[in-house]
This record gives sequence, structure tokens and C-alpha cells, in this order.
Amino acid sequence: MILDKFSLKDKVAIVTGSNTGLGQGICKAYTEAGAKVVGVSRRPSDETAELCGKNFYNVIADLSDISVIPAIIEKTLEKYGKIDILVNNAGVIKRQDSIEFSEENWDSVLNVNLKTVFFLTQAVAKQFIKQGNGGKIINIASMLSYQGGVRVPSYTASKSAIKGVTMTLANEWAKYGININGIAPGYMATNNTEALRQDGERSADILSRIPAGRWGTPEDLQGAAVFLASSASDYVNGFTLAVDGGWLGR
Ligand code: NAP
Repeated sequence: MILDKFSLKDKVAIVTGSNTGLGQGICKAYTEAGAKVVGVSRRPSDETAELCGKNFYNVIADLSDISVIPAIIEKTLEKYGKIDILVNNAGVIKRQDSIEFSEENWDSVLNVNLKTVFFLTQAVAKQFIKQGNGGKIINIASMLSYQGGVRVPSYTASKSAIKGVTMTLANEWAKYGININGIAPGYMATNNTEALRQDGERSADILSRIPAGRWGTPEDLQGAAVFLASSASDYVNGFTLAVDGGWLGR
């Protein structure tokens, strides 16, 4: 039955940035769809644990450094014995005029949004290959995988790159039954956009361009996140899907 293909029953998912925002919404959706979820966060994901119930396990790790990756894999395998799904959701944004943009604002964003994403993905893919059953990887991209943005050069670099790398890895790993896709959220009401939403002029500008007429919510991302983690999407590979209230089509 088609709806059974969307089920994540008995799957094990790692979701980074699980304490808040879009990551929290994805953890909740996955446990509702039947998965066991390892949420990775640098602060405790207590609220997410409460929302998800017994099938949620929190691993604390600061993803600005790739040295934490082996422990994330080990703790997941110790707790649940396998990995089926990885969602690279954790991300940071730094806003500064490009003419003044600092090295710190460049490196801190590229480290979390691109370098750690790549090496965590590589480590999980090695485990998928060892397990021999394929797997699903979802990279949380952005409208700035498709557009330039303003005052966010390191963020745009990271999110454009992640869309490209998603295609590279799909090309290389499809033969192992691994699907790797992206989701490009539109303008969602989370901590990531707090500064934008506080800026009356920018906020009104953005809102007037969203055909849906409202900012997105973590719930808006849940359907795409479950679809791309499930066997319903087995022939979807290397694509970054916009969930944006129509923004890109405008
Ligand atoms: P958010 O509420 O700021 O969530 C970002 C998550 O990443 C938080 O859990 C954050 O932890 C975590 N994180 C950041 N740096 C980390 C590090 N060094 N180690 C571990 N975790 C780290 O914003 P969000 O909107 O939910 O963002 C989720 C993803 O969606 C990000 O990749 C973002 O770029 C992307 N996105 C968001 C929007 C939007 O409009 N909101 C649009 C396009 C793409 P802390 O809470 O500890 O900082």
C-alpha cells in the first residue's frame, strides 16, 4: 500500500540541531512516523525529548569541529545498533556587510554548514555500505542554494555548496542504494530568521514576496523530511526540494 512506503517504522535516524526549530520538527515527525531518533545538539534537547517520547536519544556534540564525528556514530550504534537515515540540519548564519566580512564569520559558518556536514555524511555513508541496505541522507539547504542573499556571503557559499555536493554524492553512492537529497526551506519562523523578522522593513519586504502570504513553520517541513527519508522516495536522488510557500517561483 502506498501509505506504508512513507512509514519509518523501526528505522534509525540521526538528526543534527535537534534542540530547536526545524530540527526539532523533523525529530518529532520521524518519531511519529515510527523511527528511533538520535538528536545531536550542542545544548541538551530536553524539549525535543519531551515532544518525541521514548524513541528519542540525545547526543551532545559541537559540530564546529569534525573530531566529534566518531563518537556520534559510536553512540548511535551502541544505543540502536544501526543507522538508516541522516539529516544534516544544524546550521549557522552570520550577517555582516560583505565589504567588512570577517574571517571568523567565514570559517565558523563554513565549518558547521559544510565541512562537518560533508565528513559526518561520509562517516554515515561508510556505515550504510557496511550494513549493506542503502540509506537516506537529507541535507537542509536554503533559498540561498538558489539565490545570492544580502550580507550573508559565507552562508550563501555554504548552502550553494551543499546543493552541489548533494549531487556529487548521489552520483557516487546511488550504486550502494544510498539516496542523498536536499530540502531548501523558504523563510521559516525560527531562531535563524529572528534578526530578519525583527527588522520591520526587511520583514515586510520578505513577507510581501511569499506567495503563501506567511512565514513557514517547522511543521511545514515535516512532510518533505519524512518523504525523503522513506522508501516512497527511492528513485529521488541528488535533488534539492524547495519548501518555500512558492518563493522561488515568484
Ligand atoms: P535554528 O533554530 O537557529 O537552528 C539551528 C540549529 O543548528 C540549532 O539546533 C543550533 O543549535 C544548531 N547548531 C548551530 N551550530 C551548531 C554547532 N556548532 N554544533 C551543534 N549544533 C549547532 O534555525 P533553523 O531555522 O531551525 O535552522 C535549521 C537549518 O535550516 C539550518 O541549516 C538553517 O541554515 C536552515 N534554514 C533555515 C531557514 C529559515 O528560514 N529558518 C531557511 C533556510 C535554511 P543552538 O540552538 O545551540 O544554536
